[in-house]
This record gives sequence, C-alpha cells and structure tokens, in this order.
Amino acid sequence: MAMTYQVDEKGYYGEFGGAFIPEMLYPNVEELRAHYLDIINDSSFQKEFHDLLKDYVGRPTPLFEAKRLSEKYQTQIYLKREDLCHTGAHKVNNTIGQILVAKKLGKNKIVAETGAGQHGVATATVCALMGLECIVYMGAIDIERQAPNVARMRMLGAKVVAAQSGSKTLKDATNEAMRHWINNPVDTHYIIGSVVGPHPYPDMVARFQSVISEEIKAQLTEKLGRNYPDYVLACVGGGSNAAGAFYHFLDEARTQLIAAEAAGQGVGSGHSAATTFLGKSGVLHGSKSLLMQTEDGQVIEPYSISAGLDYPGIGPMHAHLFKTGRAHFYDITDEEALASALELSQLEGIIPALESAHALAVLPKLQAKPHEVVVINLSGRGDKDLATYQQRLNLL
Ligand SMILES: *Cc1c(COP(=O)(O)O)cnc(C)c1O
Repeated sequence: MAMTYQVDEKGYYGEFGGAFIPEMLYPNVEELRAHYLDIINDSSFQKEFHDLLKDYVGRPTPLFEAKRLSEKYQTQIYLKREDLCHTGAHKVNNTIGQILVAKKLGKNKIVAETGAGQHGVATATVCALMGLECIVYMGAIDIERQAPNVARMRMLGAKVVAAQSGSKTLKDATNEAMRHWINNPVDTHYIIGSVVGPHPYPDMVARFQSVISEEIKAQLTEKLGRNYPDYVLACVGGGSNAAGAFYHFLDEARTQLIAAEAAGQGVGSGHSAATTFLGKSGVLHGSKSLLMQTEDGQVIEPYSISAGLDYPGIGPMHAHLFKTGRAHFYDITDEEALASALELSQLEGIIPALESAHALAVLPKLQAKPHEVVVINLSGRGDKDLATYQQRLNLL
C-alpha cells in the first residue's frame, strides 16, 4: 500500500497525532470531530468560505516571480504572497474557516489562546466580522511584551484575559483557554491557531490552509504550464502555513518539501526552537508529536527571535513528514533569518515577517539548479517586526 501523509480515521499521521485530552473536554472535541467533515464539505459552506477568502482576505494571493533573488541564487524563485492577506499573514485563512464551522455548530462565542498575539488578532478580526463574542487568553508576560497586538485585539472588540499561572506565557494561556472551553461547552468554540492540538484540529486547520497550495498549482500551470514546483519552502512554528503550502504536493514525488525551523542562537546553544533536531516523542496540547523536553518529560522553554516560531513542538503531520523523510528540515539561526530579511527587502522591495525570513534563509543551502522551480511561502509581512529589525540591523 502506498504511504499516506494524510490523517487516518483515528486522527493519526503514522505514529503521531490522536486526541490526548482530559475527560471533561471530550464532549466538545467529539462534537467537532463528528461534524467537521460534513460541515466543511457542504457546498454552501464552501461557497461562503471561498467568497470571504476572495472579498475579505483578498485571495488568490499572487505568485510572484522574484527575478533579482532568482538571479542571485541561479534558479527560478517564486514567492507565494501570503503577506498580502488581510491582517498581514496566512493565519486568517484558518480563523475564517473555523468561525464558519462555529456558526454551523450553533456556537455564538469564541475562545482562543495567543502567544505573540498574531493568532489573537486574526481571531478577533473574524469575530468582529461575524458579530461573535471573543475572549482571548494571553500570558501576563506576553501582554506586556506585545502591547500593539493587545491594542489591536481590544480595538476589534475582543476581551483579552491575562493568564497569571505558571510562566505566564503561551502554554499557560492555552491551559486557561481549555479550562474556559470545558466550563462553556454548549455555546463556545475554541479556535486553535495552527496544525496542533487534539484531532480533528490539525486536519481541519490543514484543510483551511490548503488553499495556499491549491492556488500555487493553478498559478504555476498558468505561468509555466506545469502544475508542481521542484521545491516548496515554508517556515514551521506549529506548521500551519507549511501544511497549507505542502498539502496538494504531499503525494507529488517530483516536489521536494522543505521546512525551516527556528534554531534561535543555534541548535546546541540552549536557546533554540528547532524541534526536529532537539525534540523527542511526547504529548503536547492534546496530540502526540515531537517536542522539546527534558529527560523526565518537562517541556523546555523554546527560544527564537521570531515570536511565531517560538514553540516547543510541531504539529503531528510535520512530525510524520520528518520521520518518513518526506520533508527535509533545515535549522535557521536568528542571524541567518535577519540577513535573509534584509536581502529580500533590498532585492525585491518586500519586507518579510521574521518567520518567513527563516524560509528564505534556506536558499543559500538549497543549491537548486537553474532550470528548477522553487516556491517560497512568504507567510507574513514584516511590519510587526520593525522594532526588531531596527535594533538588530542598525537602522536607527
Ligand atoms: C504565526 C506565524 C507563523 C508560524 O505559524 P505556523 O502555524 O507554523 O504557520 C509563520 N509566519 C507568520 C507570519 C506567522 O504570523
């Protein structure tokens, strides 16, 4: 039987995935699992989803031939411009999909967790659009560190609640959002922001983000008369933009799938978020995957210059793609990402998000040939990272 990279009926990608949840969360997750495919595959849902992607998000996003970057690396480079999505990144593709699912399930309240605030903003945005109540849990320390995104969420009408437990960061916000969902199972849907969490979240989020590779296929066909690239590059935090960019090429053997993880100050430095290099099998946020942990199973605090990649695990689909060798993983340091962000800005006039700059930083290591086609998923724009660029690239 051919190897499959899709989720199986029990919610597994090979040995990874599943739903490891407290019993009190079971009814909520089971309600979603039982209905999500019927809801998503319904034609009225598809129409509403695609109408919003077109008129609200601004899809299809362009596939841009980066000529000066191609010249430099002596290959054919195309950028998938997710940075041009409304709100400035791919995350909104997922929150639009999930809020429509929530409405079909009869929920009128949304809860979410956020670390740096990007997923919180994408969630608050669609809640305003649909008139649903929005509560976002955020670590108390993150609220201080990410003031502009807190202001955005509040301006959009969301209630931002500080998680005061533990290290007062993302994992504590996740715990409190889960607790909120357990206590409000009937009227509330929990919007998870990446291809992580218990089944069916990784599969549901991957399906919503798969619009990225669906468009790449059509756009390459139109531009080059071939419907696959030789390489697709994407950064991996939890892995949603990569899942979307890989999705329709998972079974296309001619396409190499390339993932960039944040090495932070280096994989051996103790300040890193390169999960496939440092991680071991374990359970995090409701699914089995690879995660960074100590010998006795304590989660290790990750580090990256890029808030969106600062996560101690990866989604189960990516753990499987890594384990089977279907995707190749590169570890990219803060310095390499900064250099690539500067390079793209000055060669193409596009300032990328720091996360996306990790994918760009694979280019010098890839050694693609002149006739080969390389698609890089530019997951977001760099406006949110300007303070870091100013400081680290001496722009003041
Ligand atoms: C959040 C974020 C990421 C990382 O999340 P994934 O789920 O791995 O895609 C990457 N790029 C940008 C711009 C982000 O905001």
